[in-house]
Amino acid sequence: MPLLEPLAGTVPAVWEKLDDRFAGIRGDGRLERLWTGGRWLEGPVYSPAGRYVLFSDIPNDRILRWDETSYQISEYRNPAGNTNGHTLDQEGRLVSCEHGNRRVTRTEHDGSITVLASHRDGGRLNSPNDVVARADGTVWFTDPAYGIDSDYEGFKGSIEVGGCHVYRVDPDGTLAVVADDFNRPNGLAFSNDGSLLYVTDTEEATIRVFRVDGSTLSGGELFAECGNGAFDGIRLDSEGRVWGAAADGVHVYHPDGTLLGKLLVPETVSNLCFGGAKRNRLFLTATTSLYSLFTTVNGGPQPYDTTAT
Ligand code: MG
Repeated sequence: MPLLEPLAGTVPAVWEKLDDRFAGIRGDGRLERLWTGGRWLEGPVYSPAGRYVLFSDIPNDRILRWDETSYQISEYRNPAGNTNGHTLDQEGRLVSCEHGNRRVTRTEHDGSITVLASHRDGGRLNSPNDVVARADGTVWFTDPAYGIDSDYEGFKGSIEVGGCHVYRVDPDGTLAVVADDFNRPNGLAFSNDGSLLYVTDTEEATIRVFRVDGSTLSGGELFAECGNGAFDGIRLDSEGRVWGAAADGVHVYHPDGTLLGKLLVPETVSNLCFGGAKRNRLFLTATTSLYSLFTTVNGGPQPYDTTAT
């Protein structure tokens, strides 16, 4: 597979402080455009063992891999089932949401692919969008209809499961609806202690927060409303702040729901993740480009951490 043109340049990182508690949250000033040339990029995930970032180019039906050691970029999988969101599970295995195949899959250590979820009560899922895993082996994902609205991000089709829900898959394969009152659920992330689940609704331009009661959810109150576009992916930093992808960049929220400030980005941001050996490098998928910058904060815990419970 030929390498693609790497590192498309840098742009100044612009931070917009909206609350005094945003002080100290900064980057190194340079927003690196690591690669550009995608059509609509989503779903970055950093592999600490492989030292690469995988991300989706949904309309072009491929997963790309950016190599931290060489800055080179190449195709990891093509065709890829129009993948969208990714995460790593408690064993560091890649978990992918596939619009085109209307399923959630796991790539095993030997490279084979296991289907984690594809149907509910006989109907096909819509187009799984984003996914998070827990140390207990459960996998939680959202299932809006963006991949079946048209042929652009998958295959045009109809909703067969009664709506756009949030699901949990248990290690034994059991699939359960954990929230069914969303319009278009999209990004999701657990609080660092696992007691809360944040879920965005792109159609409502909101983040809602649920209490996690074992394997079920309760609550679901409004946590934040997006002031520019709509939220897509979200991630937490080590202090529990919620970083949300939006039209003008990344919005950073205090756990109490206050918008602390923004990182402004030249392209609409779809998703983000923290990576690097110290988890202090922010990676952004933003429309046609993959960006990164080093930050003064660190990403939150992951299910594969040796300290995870
Ligand atoms: Mg998404």
